Amino acid sequence: MTQPRPGEWDGRVLSAGHTADYKPFTFVDGEGVRCSLYVSGCPFSCPGCYNAAAQSFRYGTPYTDELEDRILGDLAQPYVAGLSLLGGEPMLATPILLPLVRRVRAAFGDEKSIWIWSGYTYEQLLGEPPDKRELLEHCDVLVDGPFIQRLYHHDLAFRGSSNQRIIDLPASRRAGTAALWQSGRRDTEDSVPFLAPAPPRS
Ligand code: SF4
Repeated sequence: MTQPRPGEWDGRVLSAGHTADYKPFTFVDGEGVRCSLYVSGCPFSCPGCYNAAAQSFRYGTPYTDELEDRILGDLAQPYVAGLSLLGGEPMLATPILLPLVRRVRAAFGDEKSIWIWSGYTYEQLLGEPPDKRELLEHCDVLVDGPFIQRLYHHDLAFRGSSNQRIIDLPASRRAGTAALWQSGRRDTEDSVPFLAPAPPRS
């Protein structure tokens, strides 16, 4: 696995504006019915990456205005809880994701939640350039950190390895520190039993 120095990887330079996939009306990428956009490009190079093909910034197809309009239309369905941004590395796809999330917030306010998955930790992102911090600012939930194969556990909710945290971003902004998310209510790390790290596999 590769780890960047602060600010070393810049999506405004690296992104080719490609997406690996778009799945409307899924049930697996966060709470409720969601529209999931998978962007291309991720230099973390985690061994065992669930979507290794999408590590290339040129994988998939170019993001288009038509796709963005379709996403906005799909999100408008009353049974859709929100948008999920996955990769690849969404924090390095800010040229396409910032305009998208700004549009989503302009159209729906806080009515639709935005979840984002990143190989960066929450603390790392706070020290990154403004494009990443603005994207984080628009999101409600961050699943953070790289995938670590020896910490893989098959029944972790919404994440692959136990080092990854599901972070409640509004609560974290209020607390000034990472606060973990829990389904149906917001809570702090100490009171989220199902997020306790699973023992490493041998
Ligand atoms: S951060 Fe995620 S997408 Fe990137 S290499 Fe690691 S597992 Fe794959």
